[in-house]
Order: sequence, then C-alpha cells, then structure tokens
Amino acid sequence: MVFRMAREKKDSVSKKNTAAQKAAAPEKEVLPVEEPVPAAKPAEPVVEQVKPAPKKRAAAGTKKAAAGKKTTAAKKATPAKTKPAPAAEVPAPAAEVPAPTAEVPAPAAEVPAPAVEVPAPAAEKPAPVAEVPAPVAEPVPAAEAAPETADQPRRSVAFIGSECHPFVKTGGLGDVMYALPRELARLNCDVRVILPRYACIPQEYQNKMVYRGEFYMDLGGTGRNYYVGIMEYVWDGVVYDFIDNEEFFSWGNPYTNLVDDIPKYCFFSKAALAALNYMNWIPDIVHCHDWQAALVPVYLRTLFRDTPVGRARSVITIHNLRFQGVYNIPTIRYWSGLPDDVFNMGALKQDWVEANMLKGGLAYADRITTVSGTYAWEIQTSEYGERLEEHLRYHSGKLRGIVNGIDYGMWNPETDPALAVNYGLGNVLEHKMANKLALQRELGLEEDEGKFVIGLISRLTNQKGLDLVNAIIAQVMDGNTQVVVLGTGDRQYEDAFRSYERAFKGSFSACIQYDEARAHRIYAGADALLVPSRFEPCGLTQLNAMHYGTLPIVRETGGLKDTVEPYNEFTGTGNGFTFDRYESGLLLDAINRAKTLYFGNRYHWDEIVQRDMAKDVSWERSARQYKDLYLELTQW
Ligand code: ADP
Repeated sequence: MVFRMAREKKDSVSKKNTAAQKAAAPEKEVLPVEEPVPAAKPAEPVVEQVKPAPKKRAAAGTKKAAAGKKTTAAKKATPAKTKPAPAAEVPAPAAEVPAPTAEVPAPAAEVPAPAVEVPAPAAEKPAPVAEVPAPVAEPVPAAEAAPETADQPRRSVAFIGSECHPFVKTGGLGDVMYALPRELARLNCDVRVILPRYACIPQEYQNKMVYRGEFYMDLGGTGRNYYVGIMEYVWDGVVYDFIDNEEFFSWGNPYTNLVDDIPKYCFFSKAALAALNYMNWIPDIVHCHDWQAALVPVYLRTLFRDTPVGRARSVITIHNLRFQGVYNIPTIRYWSGLPDDVFNMGALKQDWVEANMLKGGLAYADRITTVSGTYAWEIQTSEYGERLEEHLRYHSGKLRGIVNGIDYGMWNPETDPALAVNYGLGNVLEHKMANKLALQRELGLEEDEGKFVIGLISRLTNQKGLDLVNAIIAQVMDGNTQVVVLGTGDRQYEDAFRSYERAFKGSFSACIQYDEARAHRIYAGADALLVPSRFEPCGLTQLNAMHYGTLPIVRETGGLKDTVEPYNEFTGTGNGFTFDRYESGLLLDAINRAKTLYFGNRYHWDEIVQRDMAKDVSWERSARQYKDLYLELTQW
C-alpha cells in the first residue's frame, strides 16, 4: 500500500490515539532493555521474555480502548511546546553558544558515559536464540542465497528505516529500502531490514509474517514499559523484521504529524536496536535512513554502547535533507531518553529551543551518505543545506554521495505486466508507439501517435519545480504536444493541473492520484519525462524513464545532474535535455530543444531512446559502493 503525504508536518494537532496514553505492561513482564539500573540497585532478575503462543498484535492496550482516546501522546505526556525549557536548557552556559568548536561531536568512543547509562547487567543480555519461540521460518542468511559471490568478503548489515516497498512506500526511500538490500544480498551481505509494523501494511504481507518474539522496553521519561513485538518475513534472501506496537503504529499512514511522529520514531529507533540484541543478531553495520531512524547512531554510542549491538559501526543515509525531525528540546529529550550531553550544538541541539534528530544522527554516525555526488556537495551550501550546511561541512570527511539505481525486476519493459505491449531494446521503436496509443486511450487524450507526449510523475510539492511548469504551460500546449501529470500533494498544484485538464481538453491529463501501474504505463507511453526540480537528492523518475526509452528533461541539480548527460547536437551524445538555473524560461527552452529534435530529426531522437535503454541504471554499481563502504568501516 502506498501513501503520498507530507513526510513532516509542523501541525501539532492530532486527532488520533497514540502511545503514551496506554497503560504500562505488568511489572513482572518487564524487560528493561537499556535503561540504566542505578549502581546501588541490585540487578533486575531476568524476567520471562517470551511467550509461548504467538501474538498477532499484542500491545498494552486494545484497539478499541485506543480508538476512544483523542489526544495525542506527546501532547499529554510532554511539556507543551510553548512551555519554558527546564532549567538545564536555559541557554546560559558559554559552551552552549553555537560556536565553531561547539560543532565538534563527541566521537563514539569519547562520549562521556554518565553513570546512569550503565546497562543493567542481567536484564540487558539478549535472549539466547534458542529461547525464542520457534518461528515458522528460520531466517535464511542472505549470503547463503548468493553462493556465486561467496568470494566477496561477507558482512552483515541491519537496514533501519521507516518505509520499504512493497509494504509501505511514499517515495524514493521506499524504493531504496527494497532494492538495495536485495542487491547487497547478492554481494554476500547478510541483510536484515527493520521496519515499523504499520497497520496499513497490506494484509497479504501481514499474513506472511511470523512471530519472532517479544519483550518490553522502557522509553525516555515516560516511566512506562512498552511492548515490542518482532514479526518476521523472509523474502528473496532478505529478512524483514517488523517492530510491532499497536500504540505507535496502529494509525493508517506512516507519517502523520510531528507531534506523533517524534515519539513514534524515538520508540522505533530504540526498539530496532533492542530487537537486534534480543534476537542476538549483531550486525557489522547498522545502516539507517533519514530522520526517522537518525537516533539510531546516537543510541548506539550512548544507551546501547555497552550492549552487544554497541560494537556495530553505523552509516546514515540522507534521502532528503528537507526532513529532519526538529522539535522542542524537552519533547525530544523526554521521548528519546538520551543523556543531556547529546543535546549540545555539535549534536542534537539546533538552537536555544529546538533539537534536530537528523543533526544528531549525522554527528554520531561513522559514515554519512547521500544519494548522489552532486547532492553531497550541494547540501554543504546555504542554498541546499536546509540550515545544516555548516554541520555537514564539518562532517564532510565522512560524507559521500552514492547515486541510487532502479530495481530491474520491478522496472523492466520486457516483462512489465502493467504495459499494453512489452518491449526491449531490440523492438522499442515499434512497440513504444503502441504504448503511447494505449496511454492516450486510457486517459481520454486524442489518439495520435504524432503528438509529443510529456509525462510528469511526482509528489506535487514545491520541491519538484511545479511553479516553473505552471509559468510556461500555455506555451508548452502548442497543439502538437500532450501533457500527462500523475501525482498528489499540495492543493494549489492539484487544482492548477485539474484546471489545465479542463482548459486543454484532449491534450492535458491530470491524474491526481497515486497509481503504480499507471506510472509504469506513463513511463512506457510518453516520449519525454519532465523533472524540473528545485532540488533533487537523486531522483528515480528520470532513471525509470530512461530505462523505458523515455527521454528526461531535467534541471541540473543533485542526482538529475549526475544521471542525465545533456544531449549535444554536435557530437550526438547525451541522454536527455537539461537546464541549469531555476528559471521557467530555461525550462521552456529545454522542452523546445527536445521538441525540435523530436519533430525535426527523429533518427537522432531514436538513437537517444536506444542509448537510454541500454544505459546501466541498475543497483549493482551503487550496491558495490555501499559494500566497499561497509568494508572500509570494518577492517579487522
Ligand atoms: P521522491 O522520493 O522525492 O518522491 P523520487 O523520484 O526519488 O522522488 O521517487 C519517486 C518514486 O515514486 C518513483 O518510483 C515514482 O515512479 C514514484 N511515484 C511518484 N509519484 C507517483 C504517483 N503519483 N503514482 C505512482 N508512483 C509515483
């Protein structure tokens, strides 16, 4: 199931039930996974960690009870956003002033270990695997599924992130979380993907999950112990472990608003590491993604430092720097339970009042990657840095760009079941036309193979350069051109595209929806695909388009710049049409250059079609770079 929605909203009003309202688990079932036990206090007895019978969605409260509550956990359990920070937060000490030296993050080994961080000796020990109720399917080590690469050094990697195709996806992150682990499995990596078990995951996958175990975990200042269930699904050499907690993940959509998402992803990040300890599966690398998992490297070097998983090295990947998980310091401190010393200007602290989860993750991770070389450079500038440019410049030594690929199993015009006619490199010129006609028919456009069809498949947000499209649409619609938009997002863009559909009937189609199959048909049926983004960390739509023989028209930013070489009419080289500055006139010029070639020299156009289809945009090369990075971090 797929959701298209803002990944991060500042909206502090939530109508749904959330975690902290629920009752704590009974004391005797408590397994304090990391929370410290004061030195004087005797170690907790090792409590029963597992239940004999699998629970489907055991949680500390029933769904019905949850539904009755309307106020959110964060609102109820944390200081109000406007409430003055506790004394410790008062920005008095000189050391708190954002000065260059304060930018120095505490390196892993140097993090002071406050006494309260000492883990409880007995209860902290992960349960031996033998004690876990026998899962129906024992995980298959990924490496065993790929014997042909057994000569590659083997590494184990835990992917931790908030979405993954086909369980839940809102954008490129979901694609990466799906494709990269599979490719790494082929490179002799033992990969486990840890995800929230959202209620919105389609039933067909819920049914395939197998109960792996459960325990209770404390969380921050809540004083409560939360149920953590582990549901497992082994698929194609990759083990998927879903963290189950009905209180946090019962809501339909993965992302709602920050007041709920902050507690949700504090819980998730901590539970993911606790689950690795519990399963006694200690990876060489913990690879986390975006702000939702950004506390993982921070936990790893603080609360989990002296636990088995604490020996893992960490990598954090920025898929989109715009989303950072910023909220007031008391709230993040309350939910995360992280020690005070991480709330400094070099790590989580953003300014006097706010903490930034991504910023903390960047400081504590052993390596930072982002999804293209150009974006890795851009985010160190004030134009693209989203207020973290200085922090990123400071950490530039451990930052690198690795461009995304696309999954050839999912994106293959030769076998794609969504297409009217399948085609490959050998017959694209004949069969692409049939897909164009089928697309025109499907969308109620004039059926004419002579028209130049431009596709646009995108979240409809201001990142995607849609104001440029709005500014030139009248000039683009010249009688020989058709435009097909597929996307959802900001109301202003949705309305604008609907109005163009009315104004240019038969030539403009506005599909305001999220529809995977239709996206595939647009990639196959369009002649060109527009990606005029204001910024684009990598971008996948231009890669999909090229692989389907559809020429990209893109702005030269981020991954668009790294993956689309501009067509050069003198040398005949290139993959598409590009423009540099963020100006509508330049976009129009790029579209007109594409049209000039399409209508004026179809022979050369077709050459580019074939060149783009032959271009290697697979994950293989990128996955090798990730593997190299893992090896670099684990030289023993
Ligand atoms: P972002 O992650 O910023 O949304 P990307 O280009 O990295 O953008 O990834 C977008 C992915 O989502 C692509 O696989 C694209 O085909 C898909 N997609 C975007 N909008 C839609 C939509 N409305 N319907 C179906 N797929 C979509």
